[in-house]
Amino acid sequence: METQLQQAVNILKNSKNVVAFTGAGMSVESGIPPFRGEGGIWNKYDPNSLELSFYKHRTAESWDVIREVFYDFFTNKDIKPNEGHLTLAKWERLGWLKSVITQNIDDLHHIAGSKVVYEFHGNSARFVCMNCGEKYPISEIEITDEVPHCPHCNGLLKPDFIFFGEGIPEFAYRKSVEAAQHCDAFIIIGTSGQVSPANSIPYIAKDNGAKIIEINYEPSLYTDAGLSDVFIQGKSGEILPQIDKLLQE
Ligand code: NAD
Repeated sequence: METQLQQAVNILKNSKNVVAFTGAGMSVESGIPPFRGEGGIWNKYDPNSLELSFYKHRTAESWDVIREVFYDFFTNKDIKPNEGHLTLAKWERLGWLKSVITQNIDDLHHIAGSKVVYEFHGNSARFVCMNCGEKYPISEIEITDEVPHCPHCNGLLKPDFIFFGEGIPEFAYRKSVEAAQHCDAFIIIGTSGQVSPANSIPYIAKDNGAKIIEINYEPSLYTDAGLSDVFIQGKSGEILPQIDKLLQE
């Protein structure tokens, strides 16, 4: 009997167009907790802080939570890509991993060296002005207790990730659908499958004939639905380098 690892390796060896789809679990070994489950962010903070209307009307209150969760913590200098992020960046350099579709907003795929990253939910490493639409890298905005304002027009800045009540960025959505339609293998990594509409993307890949490999610490909605051709239970920061090693044998 082939192990699941070996089955995944065989699929990848026979694939020319591979796409990875990542969620919060991908960054857990970098020290960023997921939203849900044990140690999840929403066990400690109120998710209403990320409602768009809440941010507009009770800005200072919302900013306190956003600053603490996303800027004191996510962008902390000690947070670095883990071996999983580095392996995906390597596979892209080798030419057969065509893109990463990520639900994560922590910028760790870019920092690891991945170039083609579709940020389905945006990125906390940028701010966008709610008045003039100008975007700023985090290096240009001073993070303090005060809500940040646009250096250009003084409008309210918000982190450039999507809040509850906002739509998916059009470019990321379109490119993610295209990537899922054209790949021959699709790797789902560290996502529970609970967040819509992101959770529909793996089904597009499956419907278009891609083999589905799933890596998760525990079974997800995809596993339960029988979507995954191969399910590998474990930590992505350990499993991805193991697959990489087997690919070289
Ligand atoms: P989720 O919190 O709903 O689920 C996380 C999944 O990761 C779970 O299925 C869990 O079993 C799995 N997991 C935990 N540790 C793992 C590991 N080491 N290796 C592999 N799998 C592991 O996450 P989601 O499905 O991505 O949806 C949550 C939403 O919250 C997404 O929109 C995401 O953008 C956002 N979020 C992002 C970050 C981040 O940017 N790092 C962190 C928290 C939440």
